[in-house]
Amino acid sequence: MINHLITQKNWQTQLSEAVTSVDELLTMLNLESLKPQVYIPEHFELRVPRGFVAKMRVGDAEDPLLRQVLPDKQEQVAVSGYVTDPLAENEQNPTKGLLHKYQSRVLLTITGACAIHCRYCFRQHFDYSANMPTTSAHAAIISYIEAHPDINEVILSGGDPLSVSNRRLFAWLDTLEALPQLTTIRLHTRMPLVIPERLDNDLLDRLAQSRCHIMMVIHCNHANEIDTNTAEYLQRARKAGVTLLNQAVLLRGINDSVATQGALNQRLFSAGVLPYYLHVLDKVAGAAHFDSDERLAIELYWSLLAELPGYLVPKLVRELPNRRFKVPVDIYKK
Ligand SMILES: *Cc1c(COP(=O)(O)O)cnc(C)c1O
Ligand code: SF4
Repeated sequence: MINHLITQKNWQTQLSEAVTSVDELLTMLNLESLKPQVYIPEHFELRVPRGFVAKMRVGDAEDPLLRQVLPDKQEQVAVSGYVTDPLAENEQNPTKGLLHKYQSRVLLTITGACAIHCRYCFRQHFDYSANMPTTSAHAAIISYIEAHPDINEVILSGGDPLSVSNRRLFAWLDTLEALPQLTTIRLHTRMPLVIPERLDNDLLDRLAQSRCHIMMVIHCNHANEIDTNTAEYLQRARKAGVTLLNQAVLLRGINDSVATQGALNQRLFSAGVLPYYLHVLDKVAGAAHFDSDERLAIELYWSLLAELPGYLVPKLVRELPNRRFKVPVDIYKK
């Protein structure tokens, strides 16, 4: 731990004080020796809150949390098959800010901002400014949902939906809860791992009062992201009636071993979170060096099935453009 007191600051302060300088990060971690292999990105720059840095091991160039955020020169190598919009999401926006790919759920991007910039992110090239719902687009979103009675769940996404203020978030919840067809509101967020203090009392009280079932899918890739403080906040969310699930991305050299996956899913469970999905990497430009060989992924998955109870094994899936669901990876493939 570099400084445990850091995590006591309120979440807005932690957000604004995030580390954005590669040099500063390397100095904090005593890893100046990595300078020749890093670069300063012009867009999608380094961003990592100090509480998350505090979970990294000082002096360890292979730290799994560091590797998720440090801009590596390998990103600049173009690899064929890795593109800027791997899921062709730019073609599935019936109205600004809304993605309707799966029958009963729509996904709303309520902000482009994230507290952390993950180098493997499939939305790193997404044009948020062109796609953010303006005030007038709110009405269009509501009409769209009303015109599609099959929709019973809205997923708040981004960016990170918990990077917006409670005031803005509660306004969305008020609007959505007023639609009788909705049974469930889901938040996909990395914030509980990056700035756990974001799960403040006002937020948890508001979620506890919702007439809808509230689900929170956190995006945790490694057991080290969950320290005691993080686990406490997650348990609070659970006590507020929030269903907690995890979605991870399989990342080469970061979490692609049986031991790492086992530890991750056990740690999640102790913090009150069930594994949901393990995604193979979306083939986004700049992230090819994180991709793992499919054969190895399948081998790893067989081992997880053999070693863990069923409820600790996430579904191994791949997201494909123009499919109505996340496609299970064929583990019988020869
Ligand atoms: C992942 C995703 C969903 C939710 O899928 P589930 O299988 O219900 O978790 C919905 N819409 C889009 C566009 C998605 O990418
Ligand atoms: S928090 Fe999620 S959306 Fe934001 S940069 Fe990381 S992976 Fe991308």
